[in-house]
Amino acid sequence: MIWKRAVATQAAHARLESNSVELMNKGAMFKASGLRVVFDGFYRISGEKHEDQVLPELKIGEKLKALKINITETETSPMPRYSDASLVASLEKQGIGRPSTYAPIITTIIARQYVEKDEGRFKPTSLGMATNEFLTKNFPKILSLPFTAEMETGLDKVALGKMDWRKMMKDFWKTFKIDLKNVEVNADRVKVQVESTGEKCPTCKEGDLVIRVGKFGKFVSCSRFPDCKYTAPLRENAGFLCPLCGNEGVVKRTKSGKKFFGCSNYPACKWAGWKKP
Ligand SMILES: [Zn+2]
Ligand SMILES: [Zn+2]
Repeated sequence: MIWKRAVATQAAHARLESNSVELMNKGAMFKASGLRVVFDGFYRISGEKHEDQVLPELKIGEKLKALKINITETETSPMPRYSDASLVASLEKQGIGRPSTYAPIITTIIARQYVEKDEGRFKPTSLGMATNEFLTKNFPKILSLPFTAEMETGLDKVALGKMDWRKMMKDFWKTFKIDLKNVEVNADRVKVQVESTGEKCPTCKEGDLVIRVGKFGKFVSCSRFPDCKYTAPLRENAGFLCPLCGNEGVVKRTKSGKKFFGCSNYPACKWAGWKKP
């Protein structure tokens, strides 16, 4: 494999001829494309094969008859949520981040609880959605993808001594200062949507119990906070019984947001695992 690849890198380029045809019929467009290897170059060594797909010779404006019409139904599935790898690939494509910043970007959005990891995929939290909504509404320029990419290109230039950082920061601050002042005066306060547990508060018997997100993760508190100060740790039943003591199994999270399973009878029972028993 290595020998073949090494030799193939030294070989001539392969040359392909491609053509495509667009046929119009009463506003509907039908497309066909052809591909033909003209010269196989390095393919001869690497062993890659290209199926030639040759279109018949056609003239512009030529009338064609359909010999057969097949109707096929296809369904596309929605895009999956980002994983670490697909998020980094997408950032890279947009020109955001550098190899040294991908890991801190991911740890930061998890540590600030803007996203949760669910089976390896990022899921925005209600705090994350509220934050995003506020920032994109009030700071559209900074939150746009090109801004981040341009800022990083600028920083690269500063690092290479090709740009004066004072000028760069001055240009940035000039417009940002105005936006900031404007938001301080005019923006509405953010309401983070809370999820109800469907239970009543055991202390005041009036409020509903809601799930809030704090510094140390999710917890249950009374909807009448700050009038009622009831709080309790959140118990997320995982649908299994503890193999050690038989109590309800619960979902827990590590500091970095990774899901694991434990026993609701903790700390009396110390059973824990990455997988459900
Ligand atoms: Zn209460
Ligand atoms: Zn247990």
